Amino acid sequence: MGINMLIGLIAAYFIYNDAKKLGQPFFISLLWAVASIPMPIVIVPLYLLLGRKPNIDRQRNADPDIIDVEATVVEETTPCPMCGSKVHESFLVCPYCKHTLQLKCQSCGNEIERESKVCPYCQAHIDYK
Ligand SMILES: [Zn+2]
Ligand SMILES: [Zn+2]
Repeated sequence: MGINMLIGLIAAYFIYNDAKKLGQPFFISLLWAVASIPMPIVIVPLYLLLGRKPNIDRQRNADPDIIDVEATVVEETTPCPMCGSKVHESFLVCPYCKHTLQLKCQSCGNEIERESKVCPYCQAHIDYK
């Protein structure tokens, strides 16, 4: 019992510190640590396998470069006026409801108003399907 308890406490100490270092919430770190005291042989591998996983996301969020990338992606998506799905700004048609988001002249490629009958840039007639 004595040596098992000691191993359990060492495992708990290791898990608690590791979880804290990775930015786990206090109660999650504590939960893993407490659980590992009576059965470190089960909980330690389980922790290494599962307990550290949410932290990978957490660490990624803490990385300023990645936040920048995510912010850019968020900026470039706008809700579709028809169905509200997130669509990329460069999309011409909403992939979810087929709503026309932007109309581009098939002749010159310039963006034109939805109701245009003639392209104001190249005078090409606009075909509506
Ligand atoms: Zn849509
Ligand atoms: Zn045109």
